[in-house]
Amino acid sequence: MSICAKCVMDSSDQNIKFDHRGWCDYCVNFEEIIAPSWSFNLGDKIRLDQISESIRQDGVGKDFDCIIGLSGGLDSSYAAYVAVKKMGLRPLLFHVDAGWNTDQAVSNIEKLVDGLSVDLYTEVINWEEMKDLQVAFLKSGIPDQDIPQDTAFFSALYQFAHKNKIKHIITGSNYSTECCREPEEWGGYPGIDKTLIGDVHKRFGRRPLATFPITDILVYKVFYQKILGMKVHYPLNHVPYVKKNAEDELEHLFGWQRFQHKHHESRFTRFYEDYWMPRKFGYHKRRAHFSSLIMTGQMTREVALDRISRPEMDEHFLQQEFEYVAHKLGMRVPELQEIFDAPNKTFHDYKNKRWLIGLGAKVLSALGLEKRLFR
Ligand SMILES: [Zn+2]
Repeated sequence: MSICAKCVMDSSDQNIKFDHRGWCDYCVNFEEIIAPSWSFNLGDKIRLDQISESIRQDGVGKDFDCIIGLSGGLDSSYAAYVAVKKMGLRPLLFHVDAGWNTDQAVSNIEKLVDGLSVDLYTEVINWEEMKDLQVAFLKSGIPDQDIPQDTAFFSALYQFAHKNKIKHIITGSNYSTECCREPEEWGGYPGIDKTLIGDVHKRFGRRPLATFPITDILVYKVFYQKILGMKVHYPLNHVPYVKKNAEDELEHLFGWQRFQHKHHESRFTRFYEDYWMPRKFGYHKRRAHFSSLIMTGQMTREVALDRISRPEMDEHFLQQEFEYVAHKLGMRVPELQEIFDAPNKTFHDYKNKRWLIGLGAKVLSALGLEKRLFR
């Protein structure tokens, strides 16, 4: 196993490459492509004001000028704060309840909504359908176990925005905490692929997905964004965004509570990233999360190596979570264990249109619209 000399990405990413300094291609991409085009510590007030102005103009006479998907996690919470307090926008906060919210996520959402005095719309996913799709994905044996939740979150948001003619979407996606995008093999399937979801569900699902929102990547990237002109904005790339400071600020202003680690707002994702992925597949998503923080100078490599040397949550807790997840999904513990022990697969074992998504991503990279390394 080789590990990058700068960050903590290693050859558990089988396509990783190292240069003469021992730096991985994510670090080189950060140094050559992202850093020169991004003023990390300073922000870009001029650009932020331009974006705010265009959103406000389009929103004249409307109830809301933009929509923000809110999970209760740090990135989306801080994006909501920036939108209201630094951009002067009138957002609708939009939350999708897919059944796995931690109490802390729910409490953070309530505190933000009160503190910012904005409206919240919560869409609740039909739990029987959610459960059916999640069990189908677990049975498929592929690493990408967050596709059901991600699909629900993004599809519901896009569909709501489209139906209510909201043109501007604010996202908490950002370089500061996410510049090292995890490789695709680590469950980072790029986008919502209705073909893949449909095939997995056809083979392993048991009930029709009558209401479950699935908006294919072609619909939101091409129809919504290119034809209808829906725009996605990334304000966290234009303000100084340092994880620790942002957590302190939200805590101080709203009583918002920080999480132990990224994605811990969902009880399923926490289990998936800290138990299922590392133990079934050998992939540690925390490597990518920590590497983003190392590249942006927010964490030392030593601290990251120490954190990665053990699970984020203790063994007893993880075993309890295994039971919780099994029961919540309507299974007995041995049934979930059987799925865990079954052979690992990849999306290549199912119908998909990954080639088409890859073509689109290459075009975006060539146009300079996607700066993160995508492979
Ligand atoms: Zn690296």
